[in-house]
This record gives sequence, C-alpha cells and structure tokens, in this order.
Amino acid sequence: FSSAAAHVQRNPAYSVLNSDDVSYFKSILGESGVVQDEDRVAVANMDWMGKYKGSSQLLLLPKSTAEVSKILSYCNSRRLAVVPQGGNTGLVGGSVPVYDEVIISLGGMDKIITFDNVNGILTCEAGCVLENLSSYVENKGFIMPLDLGAKGSCHIGGNISTNAGGLRFIRYGSLHGSVLGLEVVLADGTVLDMLTTLRKDNTGYDLKHLFIGSEGSLGIVTKIAILTPAKLPSTNVAFLSCNDYISCQKLLLAARRSLGEILSAFEFMDRHCINLAMKYLEGVHNPLPVSPYNFYVLIETTGSDESYDKAKLEAFLLRSMEDGLVADGVIAQDISQASNFWRIREGISEASVKVGAVYKYDLSIPVEKLYDIVEEMRSRVGDMGQVLGYGHLGDGNLHLNILSTKYSDKMLAQIEPFVYEWTSKQRGSISAEHGLGLMKAEKIHYSKSSEAVQLMASIKKLLDPNSILNPYKVLPQSVL
Ligand code: FAD
Repeated sequence: FSSAAAHVQRNPAYSVLNSDDVSYFKSILGESGVVQDEDRVAVANMDWMGKYKGSSQLLLLPKSTAEVSKILSYCNSRRLAVVPQGGNTGLVGGSVPVYDEVIISLGGMDKIITFDNVNGILTCEAGCVLENLSSYVENKGFIMPLDLGAKGSCHIGGNISTNAGGLRFIRYGSLHGSVLGLEVVLADGTVLDMLTTLRKDNTGYDLKHLFIGSEGSLGIVTKIAILTPAKLPSTNVAFLSCNDYISCQKLLLAARRSLGEILSAFEFMDRHCINLAMKYLEGVHNPLPVSPYNFYVLIETTGSDESYDKAKLEAFLLRSMEDGLVADGVIAQDISQASNFWRIREGISEASVKVGAVYKYDLSIPVEKLYDIVEEMRSRVGDMGQVLGYGHLGDGNLHLNILSTKYSDKMLAQIEPFVYEWTSKQRGSISAEHGLGLMKAEKIHYSKSSEAVQLMASIKKLLDPNSILNPYKVLPQSVL
C-alpha cells in the first residue's frame, strides 16, 4: 500500500490523543464503545483496497445521536481530528485516517426507525448496511433506490456521504432526489434536525444537500429518511457481446428508445474485465454466457407485466442483432442465471484487487468519448500493466482501472496528471461517484472552478472552524 501520509503533512494544530481523552470517551460510551485493541483498530485504519493506511490509536462506536454529539463537542473543544467511518468500502481513501485521527464508526447505529408502507418512505440510522435495508424494504414490496457491488458492507450513511451512484442510477436517479431528510451532527456537537419525510418542502435553502456527497467533511450523518420505489414484479437480465465500442453506444440509444420506461440498468465492460472476472471470481459459472467479442453489455429491465416486458426485450434484442449492434446475446432464463450475469459485472472491482495494485479512476465523460481514454491509457502504460474499462454507460460513467503487480511511482507518472488533464479537457468529472477523499482532494480544480472551490472552503470554515472533520480530504490544503 502507499501510506496515506505520503500525500500531506500532519497539521500540527491538532492535539495528540491522551489518556484523559480515552477516559472521557469511556465515560460517555462505556468500555465497549471505546476500542483500543490493536487488531481491531488496525482493520479500521486500512481501506478496502489496502491502499491507504492511517495510524489512529482509537476507534469509537457510538450507539446514538446523543453520543455522536458528545464525542464531536469534546473533540472540537480539544481540537482532536476525527474521521467518520461507515462500511469502509470507499475507494478514494476517505474513510480511513491519514495520521492519528480518531475513528468514529457508525456501525453501532443500525436501527430501522419507521417504514411508511403507503408512501414507501424508510427512516433509519446511518449505520444500517445497504443490503439489510434492501431485504427489509423488499419484504414490504419496495426496493432501495440504489444498489452497488459493495452492498453487503457499505452503510446507508456512507452512501449518502459519498452520494453513491451505482447500478440503479439510470432508473431512479441520484440520492439528491431520493433522500428526503437527514439528521446530522455538526463539528461542535449541534444536532441539525432536517429529518422530514416530505416530498416537497421549499422553505428556503435545502441544507440536507450540503451533506449528500460531502464525505464526512461537514458533519456526521446519523439518521436518514429515503424514498423507496415500489418493487415491480418482472425483472429480465440480458448479457450481450458487441464488436466495438460504437455499437455499445448505439445500443444504449436504441435501448433508451425501445425499452423506455422498463430500462433499469445498462452496464458495459470490455473484454479485459471479462477475462479478469472469469479468472478470479468465485461462483461465476464458466463458460461465458455469450461468444467472446471485444465488449459486453448487461441490460436489465424492470416492469409490471411479465409477458409484455419479456416480449419487448426479445424484440429489442432481435432488432439489435439484425442491425449489427449486438454480436451475440442471451436473456437469463431464471434468477440464478440472472444473478450470475450480475455477479460478473459486480465482481470486477473484487477481481481487480486480486492482481495486486489497482489505480482506480471514476470519470464522467460524454459517452461518445468515454472509451477513448481507455485506449490512450493502454498505449501509455504498455506492458507495465493491464487497463480495464467498464462502468455505468447509461450514466456516462467510466471506471478506468489500471492493474499492476505493485504500486510504483513510474506507473503513477504514466497515469497522472494525464488522466485528470484529459478529463478536464472534455469538461468531464474526475469523480463521477466515488468522491474525492484523500486521493483527489488536491485535484479538485480539474473539475471545479476556483470560485466554486473558494465557496466550498468558506462553507467548510463556517461549519467546522477547527477543521476537525475528516482533515486532508475533499478540499486542497491551500484553501483551508
Ligand atoms: P465509507 O467507505 O466508510 O466512507 C466513505 C466516506 O463517507 C468517507 O469520507 C467517510 O468519512 C464518510 N462517511 C461514512 N459514513 C458517514 C456518516 N455517517 N456521516 C458522515 N460521513 C460519513 N460507489 C458508487 O458510487 N457506485 C458503485 O457502483 C460502487 N461500487 C462499488 C463496488 C465495490 C466492490 C466497492 C468496494 C466499492 C464500490 N463503491 C461504489 C464505493 C463505495 O462502496 C461507496 O462509496 C459507498 O457509498 C461507501 O459507503 P461506506 O459505508 O462503505 O462508506
């Protein structure tokens, strides 16, 4: 791993944890809420990719908003820096300490508070695991508006703090649309109650949006009210192969036109991803469901009429084959085949870390240009590594992964700043959905104007004047 500390200097204004601090935390959280055990703290110090590692001595496990409030109020007065942590599946080094920040895990706050069966509104605590929420609402005839490969570990609070996109974005849109209310604890311990469950509320500035995607830099999200769409009875999944990228692009447009309201996912992967998934993923049925070509597309439809939806998808596939957009394709015949198709797509991240080092980029680029950077990167990297391109094509979101056996400065120099400059030239975003974290805090200017960055810094200073919340992340050090 590359030590997180290599990126920035420790800010000497922060205090160093002492035994009085630990005693205070024990007095509010009890012994079980204050973890100093080296092994447990080590796990919380390391990110999912094994790329970023902090050196915190302390992990706190609050069980209520009141406890989070007491922790922050104390840390603010003592000027102890903290890092909020959800499921620790973030991919930009945002959820682990850079130095000795106190880790505040929301894992102990995992209660469902209410579910409004009529309107499909779920209210819960921030530490609920996404997959558990999915099962809960599905039993009641609803689904979560988001789904992602990390669902078994990530928390809804982490999803909100990163404004996670994921696999249902094309259909249900961003969390800025589905989150109705939040409860947030500010740096000084103030509890900001914005936990409404209203669809419409135009009473001035909609402050909750500031916390959606702010990666723990403005406050700790403790409760959430979220709108869940109705669960529809018919889902179909097709796995297709295409000859070239332009066919994938045309297929997307055709799918939007022909499948319209039932289109619920449009994911693409190049052949390098598929080869990797077939090699490393457990539980994937070999051989591939379709004949090998250069590109693969997974299309999902979700609708309310089994026979109508299936006929629509079949007609669409037939037409696409006749038009030469699709080289080969199958529609899953049962749930197990459908989940096998999804397992291939969702398992690419998991398969890539098995190679050793992964340089991950998560870019928003106009769809016409989206694969150009993968090809350019491939020629830059040569035989130093393997370049994968996949992602949420329907949202113009490319995941560009460069794999190699170990992290090296030489490889990094081939990739950066090229990848950011290229994206900036297309007026794309250097972070479509993963956030900036530590990895891209200093790169924000590739996607935001200096005026916008200045205003962000002013908001940060207003809400967190001692800068105790998730330091060194999101914003460049120079503006704070
Ligand atoms: P963490 O990783 O713990 O934290 C992420 C950030 O949020 C950190 O900055 C942390 O400080 C902050 N934070 C966490 N909880 C809180 C809180 N309660 N209050 C304030 N700040 C908080 N992301 C996508 O968007 N789309 C995908 O499709 C996707 N697929 C993935 C697939 C895999 C296999 C993996 C490993 C990751 C994937 N991710 C994806 C990235 C990651 O899962 C998301 O960013 C997720 O939303 C993070 O949630 P978490 O609970 O793990 O948060």
